[in-house]
Amino acid sequence: MYLKRLENLKAYKTETTPCKVKLSSNESPFDLSDELKERIKEEIVKINFQRYPDPHAKELKEALSDFISSEEGVEVSPENLVLGNGSDEIIHLLITVIGDLKNPVMYPVPTFPMYQVSSDVVGRPKAEFFLDDNFQLTEESIEEGLKQNPHIAFFASPNNPTGNSFDKNLIMKVIEKGIFTVIDEAYIHFSDKENFLKQALEYENVVVLRTMSKVGLASIRLGYMIGKKEVAAAIDKARLPFNITYPTQVIGKVVLTQGRQELKNQIENVKRERERVINEVSKISAVKVYPSDANFFLMKTPDANKTHQELIKRGVLTRNMSHLPKMENCIRVSIGKKEENDEFIKAMKDIFG
Ligand SMILES: *Cc1c(COP(=O)(O)O)cnc(C)c1O
Repeated sequence: MYLKRLENLKAYKTETTPCKVKLSSNESPFDLSDELKERIKEEIVKINFQRYPDPHAKELKEALSDFISSEEGVEVSPENLVLGNGSDEIIHLLITVIGDLKNPVMYPVPTFPMYQVSSDVVGRPKAEFFLDDNFQLTEESIEEGLKQNPHIAFFASPNNPTGNSFDKNLIMKVIEKGIFTVIDEAYIHFSDKENFLKQALEYENVVVLRTMSKVGLASIRLGYMIGKKEVAAAIDKARLPFNITYPTQVIGKVVLTQGRQELKNQIENVKRERERVINEVSKISAVKVYPSDANFFLMKTPDANKTHQELIKRGVLTRNMSHLPKMENCIRVSIGKKEENDEFIKAMKDIFG
């Protein structure tokens, strides 16, 4: 009976089949350079391993706010930030603390599964609504969600697993209704579309979520929320005190101060490769490729289960999405290094003749 509430939860599933080419988790295909690892090594050995880390991660927050300010040309200070053990943790925190827990969490379908998972864990109702056939928001679908009186809304833009960005004006409608709106910008570094940073710094009911996971640092689990100082301070009170480990604080600071150009070069490389891979796969007439602003893209094949297996046989692991609503026969493919993408393209051409 103690476990009753957990009966219907499903454990988070990832693709684990070992393959030579791993294009299944939207990670960066590039490891850090040896030079940067050397710098990290020098700093790591200075850690007092018996001590708790700084609960406010002051130095890391300074490095991070400086990084954001210089990249975006918008003034972000450490007080605008809440740090998480991955942005997953912040999603869970927001679902736990924002609004009345009896009022639903609103988000479109299909999208990133954590909004649903965290709502279920907390036992909070969900106001789900469907994206259209091009995976876009519509005025009608948003109305559908709003009718259920949500107290918090999530929009991943660019969206995972679809790859597209949402119409800013439609999200603004939700914001203008006064709903606490979270823009999950996990893939914003790969997009040329407008972000919501200005709104997050201006509106009390808007925050932006970002993460280092998709830009080369999935290993250290570092996500962050950007919002007005009062909003960030209020939410930060509910954060677990030592959620950012000492090693994460040290590594994050080194990379965000000395590794900026390296990360930027990797992102540019992924964007170039994305255009090339999409262009090549689009030549296969049996396959429909969806446009992407992210470091992955979605494709629809006549039989996704079969394509997924055939790709594994050829040493390429992708993410089969076909079990999810609105995702029939869809496979998500992360962008890899040039050689990895070549293997994927070759396998696809082989499978489809
Ligand atoms: C990967 C992903 C995240 C989670 O990132 P972590 O920081 O690794 O927890 C959040 N939102 C979206 C849309 C993602 O795809």
